[in-house]
Amino acid sequence: MEQNPVISRLAPTPSGYLHLGNALNFLITWQFVRQHRGKLILRIDDGDSTRSRPQFVEDIFRTLEWLELDWDLGPSGPDDFYTNYSQNSHSEKYFAVIEHLERTYSCKCSRKIIRKTFGSTIYGGSCRDKMVPFVKGRTAKRVIVDRPVYDAGSAFDLARAMGDFVLWTRDDTPAYQLVSLVEDETHGVTHIFRGEDLHTSTLAQKYLAEELDFSQFLQAQVVHHELIYGPDGIKLTKSAGAASLRDIRESGKDKSYVIDLLCPYLDRFREKLLP
Ligand SMILES: [Zn+2]
Repeated sequence: MEQNPVISRLAPTPSGYLHLGNALNFLITWQFVRQHRGKLILRIDDGDSTRSRPQFVEDIFRTLEWLELDWDLGPSGPDDFYTNYSQNSHSEKYFAVIEHLERTYSCKCSRKIIRKTFGSTIYGGSCRDKMVPFVKGRTAKRVIVDRPVYDAGSAFDLARAMGDFVLWTRDDTPAYQLVSLVEDETHGVTHIFRGEDLHTSTLAQKYLAEELDFSQFLQAQVVHHELIYGPDGIKLTKSAGAASLRDIRESGKDKSYVIDLLCPYLDRFREKLLP
């Protein structure tokens, strides 16, 4: 018996129709878990209620079925998801994690003010010493970032890359960094596969995991995979209107078409994983 069973997750966000980059992530994760006889969790990250839509939740299940990917834990379909799993209805659980975290503070700054004050979206910590009272729905909660985080042995200046990042938004929702981390920690996830665009996000979560003493997450192996670029060299994203898997599906193509397209990416990733 293997000492440390592999536990991983598919964690799409229902904020747009899934695209080829999501399929690559699902295939990489699914193949790794099945190869190691591990457990695969399906987790739909709908914590950001402002962007989540039912048709995108539906699309996640349709896509997984179409790609013939199964999972061991998590919602069986949209109804089960909304009844038992939606993060929207469990936001107090995430708040409880940070409620007593000492190195945090409330911030009343809007995005507009932040851009005006700091010339970018990276927050420079102007509310750090202001003792702003925390009011849900009116102030954000941020974590103090004042030390580097280590990435494969070298120090990474997270303060410069992200500033004091948000844990709880002014819209009274948990931030992605917090939700994703809490879920990975509580489910004992041992392996996380995510796109290269989430590298900084991974480091922010690592920082937060250190603040929270989340030992499971700190031991987890996080591997970033390539992003898929469109013919114009632009990263495929939902917001940029990349050809969705739904479009491909509805044009009558099947799983093998997607696998053929992604084959070079899957091969390169396998090589990366080799010791
Ligand atoms: Zn502020």
